[in-house]
Amino acid sequence: MRRIALIGVLLSAPYAVAAQNGVTNAVSSITAEDFIRRVGVIAHDSMLGRDTPSAGLSMTAQYIANEFRRMGLSPGAPNGSFIQEYPLIRERVDIVASSVAIEGGRTLRFGQDVSLLSGGPTDRRGVSGATVVVTGRPGNPQAVADLDVSGAVVLIVASGSNQWSRRDLFPLLRQGPAAVITVNDGSDAEWRSVVDGMNRVSLRTAWRERSANAPSLAVRAQAVERALASQGFDLRSALQSDSSPLSSQRLAGLTLTINVEYETVEETTAPNVVAVLEGSDPTLRDEYIAFSGHMDHVGVRTPVNGDSIFNGADDDASGTIAVVEAAEAFATLNPRPRRSLMFVLVSGEEKGLWGSEYFAEHPPVSIDQIVANLNADMVGRNWKDTIAVIGKEHSDLGETLNRVNERHPELGMTVIDDIWPGQRFYFRSDHYNFARKGVPILFFFNGTHEDYHRPSDHVEKIDGEKAARIVKLLFYLGLDIANADQRPRWYPESYRQIVTGTR
Ligand SMILES: [Zn+2]
Repeated sequence: MRRIALIGVLLSAPYAVAAQNGVTNAVSSITAEDFIRRVGVIAHDSMLGRDTPSAGLSMTAQYIANEFRRMGLSPGAPNGSFIQEYPLIRERVDIVASSVAIEGGRTLRFGQDVSLLSGGPTDRRGVSGATVVVTGRPGNPQAVADLDVSGAVVLIVASGSNQWSRRDLFPLLRQGPAAVITVNDGSDAEWRSVVDGMNRVSLRTAWRERSANAPSLAVRAQAVERALASQGFDLRSALQSDSSPLSSQRLAGLTLTINVEYETVEETTAPNVVAVLEGSDPTLRDEYIAFSGHMDHVGVRTPVNGDSIFNGADDDASGTIAVVEAAEAFATLNPRPRRSLMFVLVSGEEKGLWGSEYFAEHPPVSIDQIVANLNADMVGRNWKDTIAVIGKEHSDLGETLNRVNERHPELGMTVIDDIWPGQRFYFRSDHYNFARKGVPILFFFNGTHEDYHRPSDHVEKIDGEKAARIVKLLFYLGLDIANADQRPRWYPESYRQIVTGTR
């Protein structure tokens, strides 16, 4: 008995030492030099700011997929490769098929008489309603909200100092009008720029319906002058009255039908990269910890100080490479973590969290097999020894992180909670698409800075030494979650608020 027990001790001690050596070796692969080198690759000018979709983004995805393959990770996309392409549509307003019809009168033509500003499209029958003419300056939002415009086509007649801003329209749109049309009495040149805005090609995700918001349009004054006169409304004198108070008038005899249609210019795609490291525990390996970051940035824009390439070294080459560096460390680990790990680099984040939304809707495993998401977006700048981790208060991942960080004083990292609750960062990066599907998350974020969304977000400004310590913290945290007996748990109130509730 005793002897066997002794053998047990003798056997398990070297095993524990070996495991510890494995971890130490794995962590030592995470270096500032590696981090900076890889950020330098994807934030290089030749990637042209990694807009979604673009050649630079596809090259970035290919580079990361090649790195994952070289590390010996398995392809993780649902189609069995490293890359999950998601569908996008380029489209524009179909100015021939779209129209505004005045009952008993003429039909206004898009481009010439009317122009779409936002919202739409409508179904084939279009939207129609009696006209409510609103005159005067919008003044305070409550006065606008008090106008009775539900179901109506609202015609806003206001020029000069009475003019409405987009913001002034919000309380009006909340009343549920069929459409809002602003009368434009500007020059031909002004009108052309309005029409140019409408004719611009826009990009959207193919799986989501266009917003069903009421269409907002502009109409040239001369196109509706006669129809309004027939209802006893003098458009010219209304346009000339300056600084007049807000008022509305229902023209029951004037019904407008608005039909907005889009035409597809091109069907295209953009990439997510997904890799897997299978866990060592026969049961727990069906559960996954997903690490994420976004590869995309905002591309090439108007130059600032002669530089038009928005390199996005911090946003989010830093988070992307944090995931790649963590993956590399995990790939060398022996024995492997008990749970499986998934490395998910998405795109379209800057357009509205597109890639992560598609991933969460089309995950390679059932979404409830993903037990945690650790997202990194902007982890290469600002404080030397501090990282904000958003979402700590919503699940026991927060306590796990505190415990793991305390166990590693050599990292010299201080973990702080969300210090910008007013900015609602919890809802502004890719982890949110995991959270709303029920996956507990933590979001690593160093805050914004003067180079945020500017061409000057350059690799030279990245603190690789600090970033490497954040990656190590991510590694230790991921390892702890992967080896724990229990999967992470939401706090009930947070679950109600974020997953089942309405925001
Ligand atoms: Zn970002």
